[in-house]
Amino acid sequence: MAVPRITRRRFVAGALAAPAVLRFSSVLRAPKWSAEPFSLGVASGDPLPDGFVLWTRLAPVPLSTDPASPGGMPPGDVELGYEIAADEAFSQVVQRGSAKAEAAWAHAVHLEVTGLAPARPYWYRFHAGDSTSPVGRTQTAPAPGAPLARLRVGCVSCSNYEAGWFASYRHLAAEQPDLVLFLGDYIYEYLEKSRATVRTHSDGAETKTLAGYRNRYAQYRTDPDLQRVHACAPALMTWDDHEVQNDYADRWSQDFADPDAFLARRAAAYQAFYEHMPLRAVSRPQGASLRLYDRYAFGDLVEFQVLDGRQYRSREACWSKPSHGGGHVESAKSCPELVDPARSMIGMAQEKWLADGLSHSKARWNVIAQDVMMAQLRERQADGSAGSWTDDWNGYPVSRARLLQHVHDAKVKNPVVLGGDIHSFWANDLKLDFDDPKSPVVASELIGTSISSWGPPYEKFAAFAADNPHVHFFDSRQRGYLAIDLAPERLTARFQVISDVRDPKATLSTLASFSVENGRPGPQRGS
Ligand code: FE
Ligand code: CA
Repeated sequence: MAVPRITRRRFVAGALAAPAVLRFSSVLRAPKWSAEPFSLGVASGDPLPDGFVLWTRLAPVPLSTDPASPGGMPPGDVELGYEIAADEAFSQVVQRGSAKAEAAWAHAVHLEVTGLAPARPYWYRFHAGDSTSPVGRTQTAPAPGAPLARLRVGCVSCSNYEAGWFASYRHLAAEQPDLVLFLGDYIYEYLEKSRATVRTHSDGAETKTLAGYRNRYAQYRTDPDLQRVHACAPALMTWDDHEVQNDYADRWSQDFADPDAFLARRAAAYQAFYEHMPLRAVSRPQGASLRLYDRYAFGDLVEFQVLDGRQYRSREACWSKPSHGGGHVESAKSCPELVDPARSMIGMAQEKWLADGLSHSKARWNVIAQDVMMAQLRERQADGSAGSWTDDWNGYPVSRARLLQHVHDAKVKNPVVLGGDIHSFWANDLKLDFDDPKSPVVASELIGTSISSWGPPYEKFAAFAADNPHVHFFDSRQRGYLAIDLAPERLTARFQVISDVRDPKATLSTLASFSVENGRPGPQRGS
């Protein structure tokens, strides 16, 4: 049997053998609530063969702007009861106990459950006083190396509350995925100033403080469709820029202001992120640091390398040019710094960690789940010159080349890169040298459109096709998500779109589908 590569997860495996069905008994006594404390729903994440993380947060006044009383909660920790059942009706409760909602973490619960059976669904709920939470469904991963015939994965990114309704989340939940990958821009920190909005960020301010970020996450989590998607399956989380600030890189804000002040803002943002996500204690923030990247295996079928594309990246290239805050178009000619080999998209330590993980994986499919587009995108300008966007992997071309060369050299099995950020669908070949038609395709890239955020101009980007023959598909005109069905011989991707982001009852259709065959890198257009 293969040695599990899930390095940080090898605790108490087997110490809590799955108990026989417990007899139901009364829940913990606690206060009567004047308003529903489970207003933000429930969530699960980080599925392992013997457990997962269960999340909730007590917030009887979810949009409270009183910094002394986040969520409208009084000070002090609260004991909750929880139950995990083998069936949706909770007739077979397999584990129950108490969990603490800590005031220091905005009364969030991050319960690390162990002792469960592999590769099966579970249902869970919390009790606090006279209130019971909604029921969530989750599942454990298969045992390491165990055969797995299929896995359905929903990939979501870029849900701007102001831009529209979250019907995309509702339709994904209805597909009953086994796993949901959140690939970034879960919230947006800014207020929309120019485009027509459908809803508004309730506090009317850009998020900069802990109270502000908490308020933003709480508002998003009151959305019933977002609650549905969390309650339907376990999540794997990563982030992009808007969880903190547009186009930030490590300690460098978009406008390259005082790094110390920006790190204080980042610390507030990271704390609120942790408080609202089903993350383990290892991801508890320490100041402005939060360990998010990790790897997760599902039997013999797939291993996910979930990256952190923001916290460790080098400062954006040629930032000192006037009016160049954050992303902009540059080439190696206009900006020699772009090709400095000392620069990294994910930091040298994470690059090494990723290379090691890919080298050692025994899985049939190796998915790199991260925030932004990896393929080269040559953008021809009005004056005939061509450059690329500095905020995605195009801003870190040497870092990208190191990764793809390693994927090639280490003969990584069926590498597939998933991303978001660009609010449009893409199906790309990833090549050692994008400018050489004879250069081999070493990996596949699939990018999902935004849940709700405004897409980039279609005609402008469609015109780049001639200069980017490794791009097989692009469309920015609809909102939705990326659905991936994995099987040993084939990966199938469906580009799922909703009819109208301004309609909470929007309907779903499939814009296009692609497949990747086992042993043959590069997405192929399906019927
Ligand atoms: Fe976005
Ligand atoms: Ca982004």
